[in-house]
Amino acid sequence: MKDETWGRICENLEKAIGKNNFVTWIAPLEFRTLEDGVAEFSVPTTFVGDWVKRHYGDKILENMTQNGVMADRLVFSVASGRNDVAVPANRSSAPAGAEARADADLPGAPLDARFTFDTFVTGKPNALAHAAARRVAEGGAVTFNPLFLYGGVGLGKTHLMHAIAWELLERSPEKKVVYLSAEQFMYRFVQALRERDMMGFKSLFRSVDVLMVDDVQFIAGKDSTQEEFFHTFNALVDQNKQIVISADRAPGEIKDMEDRIRSRLQCGLVVDLHPTDYELRLGILQQKVDMYRTQYPGLAIADGVLEFLAHRISTNVRVLEGALTRLFAFASLVGKEITLDLAQDCLADILRTTDRKVTVEEIQRKVSEHYNMRLADMIGPKRHRTIARPRQIAMYLSKHLTSRSLPEIGRRFGGRDHTTVMHAVKRIDELRLSDPQIDEDLELLRRMLDA
Ligand code: ADP
Ligand code: MG
Repeated sequence: MKDETWGRICENLEKAIGKNNFVTWIAPLEFRTLEDGVAEFSVPTTFVGDWVKRHYGDKILENMTQNGVMADRLVFSVASGRNDVAVPANRSSAPAGAEARADADLPGAPLDARFTFDTFVTGKPNALAHAAARRVAEGGAVTFNPLFLYGGVGLGKTHLMHAIAWELLERSPEKKVVYLSAEQFMYRFVQALRERDMMGFKSLFRSVDVLMVDDVQFIAGKDSTQEEFFHTFNALVDQNKQIVISADRAPGEIKDMEDRIRSRLQCGLVVDLHPTDYELRLGILQQKVDMYRTQYPGLAIADGVLEFLAHRISTNVRVLEGALTRLFAFASLVGKEITLDLAQDCLADILRTTDRKVTVEEIQRKVSEHYNMRLADMIGPKRHRTIARPRQIAMYLSKHLTSRSLPEIGRRFGGRDHTTVMHAVKRIDELRLSDPQIDEDLELLRRMLDA
C-alpha cells in the first residue's frame, strides 16, 4: 500500500472517529507491509495495538477496501525501541515460581505477572476476600474448602486467584497449583471425551495440590461438564486439597446449577467482593500512577484529576484502569500534562456512559438550597423574582441534565405548562450572556449535580 493511500484512509478515519481519537490511536500507527491480505502496522505499545484492533479494526479494514487495498486482517506489532505504556509490571519481574509453573505438565492457564498481592489494593469492599485469599495463599492446613469468591465484573476475583497461585508457588515451587477458567475446564473435558481419554483427564485433575476454577457460573446448565466438575471437586476435597472457586454471583444464585453442587460449593467459606467505593478507587488509581511514574518520570498529572476519575467512573476496576491507561497513552503521545480538561476530553465516552442520572427533584432541591429558598416554592404559585428566577434556573437545568420532555418538566414544577418551561429555558439562555453571576451559578450547580 502506498503512503498516499494510507494517507487518504487516515483522512477518512479522522472524519469518522474524530480528531482526538484519531490523534491518540490512528496517528501512531506506522504501516509496514501487506502480504496475503494481512496488513501489518507497527505500534508504540501493545496496548495501543490491542485497543485499535478492538475498537477501530473493522473501520480500518473497511476503509482499506474502499480505497482498493485488499486486506482482511490487521496485525499490530511493537517496534523495538518503542515502550509499552500499558504493562507496568515487567515480565522479568514475575514472581519466583513463574518458571516452575511454565515447565510443569499441568492443565492450567498461564498466570498474569501483574496480578499479585503486592499490586492488589485493599479497602473496605474487598478486605474480607483479600484476607481469605491471603490465608489460602499461606498454604497451611486447609481450613475452609472451597474458598468461594464472588462479585461483579472487574472487582478483582481473577486478580486475587492469580495472587494466591503466585504466592503458593513462591513458597513451595514443587506444589501443583492449577488455575483455569471454567470454560477451559469444559474445553479440556470435551477434548478428553473426544480423544477417549477420560482416564487421563481424571488422573490429571485429581493429582493437583491446589485447584482454582474461575467463573464457574459458566458451567451452569452444561450438564456433563458440571457432573465431571463435581466429581473432580469431591475427589480433591476428600484428599484435603485446597480448592478456590470464583463466580459472578453467590452459589445460591447460580441458575441451572445442580443443588448438590451448589450446596457443596457453599460448605467452605463464601466471601464476596463488594462494588468499589470512592476511597478504594482512589487508592487503586494512586497505585497505578506510582507504577507508571517509575517508568515515565516525566509524567505530569494535575491535582484533582485522580479524585475526579474516582468520583466519576463506575465501580468496575477494569474500566477505571482502562481510563487511566488511555490517559497516559494520550498524554505521552502528545507530550502534555494530564489536566482535568484533557481527562474530560479524552475520556468523554467513558464518562458519558457512567454519568449519573440526575432527576428533576434533585435539581429542584439543589437549586433551592443554593438560593436559600424553600423547596415548596419551586412548585408553588409565587411569582416574585427571588423565587421565579431560581425556578427558571431549575427548569433550565432539568431541560439540559435530564431526558425529560418540556411537558414532563412542567408537570414536575407544580403542573406548569410546557410553554412556561420553554420560556424559562430561553430566558436563562439570554441571561447567561448578559449576567456573569448567573453563568457562574449555573456552572456551580451543574458541577454539584454531577458529583
Ligand atoms: P474480575 O475477575 O472480578 O472480573 P479482575 O480480577 O480481572 O476482575 O480485575 C480487573 C482489573 O482490575 C485487573 O486488571 C485487576 O488487576 C484490577 N483490579 C481489581 N481490583 C483491584 C484492586 N483491589 N487493586 C488493584 N487492582 C485491581
Ligand atoms: Mg475474572
